[in-house]
Amino acid sequence: MSKKVFYRYNPANDKYERVYPSRRSRIWGIARNTFMGIVISAALFSIIYYWIGTPAEQRLREENEQLNTQLDILNRRLDASLGVMNDISERDDNFYRVIMGTERVSRAKRYAGFENENRYNHLNTLHDAELIKNLTRKMDMLDRQLYVQIKSFDELQKLAETNKDRIRHIPSIQPIAQKHMRKMASGYGTRRDPIYGTRKFHEGLDFAADKGTPVYATADGKVVNASWESGYGNLVEIDHGYGYVTRYAHLSKFKVKEGQTVKRGDLIAETGNTGKSTGPHLHYEVRYNGAPQNPINYYFMDITPEQYNQLILEAENAGHVMD
Ligand SMILES: [Zn+2]
Repeated sequence: MSKKVFYRYNPANDKYERVYPSRRSRIWGIARNTFMGIVISAALFSIIYYWIGTPAEQRLREENEQLNTQLDILNRRLDASLGVMNDISERDDNFYRVIMGTERVSRAKRYAGFENENRYNHLNTLHDAELIKNLTRKMDMLDRQLYVQIKSFDELQKLAETNKDRIRHIPSIQPIAQKHMRKMASGYGTRRDPIYGTRKFHEGLDFAADKGTPVYATADGKVVNASWESGYGNLVEIDHGYGYVTRYAHLSKFKVKEGQTVKRGDLIAETGNTGKSTGPHLHYEVRYNGAPQNPINYYFMDITPEQYNQLILEAENAGHVMD
């Protein structure tokens, strides 16, 4: 601060004379400046403290944000795992248990203990209680479902051992060898008709493969049809008993006759392009009590879970029906 200097005009000697401040006003000035300094410092400190925070607080705030992000990731991963678990339970109930002719695992058993709303009340005192309760509930749910699923598979394994004959008659392999398959051309479900362009339900799976590729029976059974059928072209139909029938269409050559019994893996025909077809491929159907089934669910004998997931993806993404 520059120091102010005062002058006063003295008419006695016609001069300007310097005026020195009194001791009192000097002290007063110092006191006033000190006071202002304190007030300004306090204001600045308050602003920094309230709006920016101390370095320790800032670090804590950053840590907090990181923890929240991690919780968020954990939450989403748990959701994904629960989704996978639900797929497995559904496959268990709607497929494995149907095949074994046994009852489904009840909902009450799968979710035992989760109706209790007070189950997580002990976490109420925590900061972010709802978030922690939610995560804990999901982890417990996953634990419970895994436990029930393992028990269920144990039970199914025992059933499989005592149902060997039944299992031999349930379609459970791919009708053409993996090495011969060019690709899965189309999955089961509603697709665009390759010839008429309309939307219709595709009741089987199409496997693109060169003409003459070996076709195998997917389970033990009896050939009930080996002839030309409208639309299907050359068709082999096998009745496996226990409500199961499989169909192999658009064939170029028959290797079995009507009335013949076959074993799983027996050569029954060669692929072709006969009937309503847009290129050499095998159209494969699985029927249970007359109703079409998604054949993708009937490969459980010779594929790993990873391959199964890959097949599901391929079947879902393949939109090109060869019919
Ligand atoms: Zn088809």
